Amino acid sequence: MQLRRMKLPMMKIEHIFISHLHGDHYLGLPGLLFSLHLLGRKKEIHIYAPPGIQQIIDVQFTLSELSPLYQIHYHDITRPEDCIFEDRYLTVETMEMTHRIPSFGFLFREKPHKRNLSKESILKYDIPRDQMDAIKEGADLVLPDGKKVPNHKITISPAHSRAYAFCSDTAYSEAFLHQINGVDLMYHEATFLNDKAGIAAEKTHSTTLEAATLAKKAGVKKLLLGHYSARYNDLQLFAQEARQVFPNTELAEEGRIIQVGDEQP
Ligand SMILES: [Zn+2]
Repeated sequence: MQLRRMKLPMMKIEHIFISHLHGDHYLGLPGLLFSLHLLGRKKEIHIYAPPGIQQIIDVQFTLSELSPLYQIHYHDITRPEDCIFEDRYLTVETMEMTHRIPSFGFLFREKPHKRNLSKESILKYDIPRDQMDAIKEGADLVLPDGKKVPNHKITISPAHSRAYAFCSDTAYSEAFLHQINGVDLMYHEATFLNDKAGIAAEKTHSTTLEAATLAKKAGVKKLLLGHYSARYNDLQLFAQEARQVFPNTELAEEGRIIQVGDEQP
């Protein structure tokens, strides 16, 4: 429903990552999969989740005597620090959350970009096409007389490779601190304000101060809070409290668009 409301093209979705099997994290999935079927989707889809999601989906399709027109590939997540997805542009790694049932965070990391040839060097040296790919990978330019021009003199540094960490649901944990070190954006659950720290620990959730403390320790560039308990009406309290520890904190809210890596020059 929210994808429709936000006019996001759901047919373009190819990979879906589910952290754990609590209803508030997957109950929208059967509806989405049915919608894709009704829209006539033919293209396969991949779902990454802790074991059990296939059973949940299968029973829904079976009892409604429907089989989707497209293939669903299920990928069981069983281990943290596992690279579960990779393509030309990025990798996705799992992270160990601490929750009542098995729960995994996801680290989305762009692959390093190639170096760029500077305009001046292309004009100055008339760089032959057959050397361009190697130079972008870091090789020196070899001139017709055999002399070499060092790579750093003819190329400019590539754009920064961005990283986004999704950490939910979890109690405060430093088990994945090394993975989120310096990421551009970290989404971290903050179900409670600090006054409910006891309940948070009991329910294996986090508080704003815990999320902010982790963001500070990991040196992330921006913290995005979410997963607020329904008992709170004023979400600004979450931002205010977290900013005492980690100033660059934003609130995840329905429909809000957050750029990953917008802090970069
Ligand atoms: Zn949960």
